Amino acid sequence: MPFICENVECRAVLARGQVRSSQEDAGWCFYCPDCNARNELKDVGIPGGPAQLVQPDRSVPPHKIVATARPLEDGRYAAQLRVQRALAVKGTYAVEERWEQLGVFLNAQEAVAHANSFAADLLKA
Ligand SMILES: [Zn+2]
Repeated sequence: MPFICENVECRAVLARGQVRSSQEDAGWCFYCPDCNARNELKDVGIPGGPAQLVQPDRSVPPHKIVATARPLEDGRYAAQLRVQRALAVKGTYAVEERWEQLGVFLNAQEAVAHANSFAADLLKA
């Protein structure tokens, strides 16, 4: 399993031999040779044995979510959403997905809250 740089703008796929892992006060990590981002590592080896380093699973990848409320002529608000999913490979983000009108709400906060919960459901799948 190669390592993948967690910097979303980089996402370099690195063979184990390409990275030098180091143990710092905060734990194991490596620095990406492409962008120099610090990447956290976890030692899953047996205690006292040689270190077996893996990248921790990120339960929430760094997707970009932009939820907004667009004022309508009648004083209500349309919930709008833009989502860019972070990819697990180099190439940064997937194509942006957009929703111009997820629903119409009486106030802007409700519209934004609706767009955010829609995004949460979408990215769970
Ligand atoms: Zn990197």
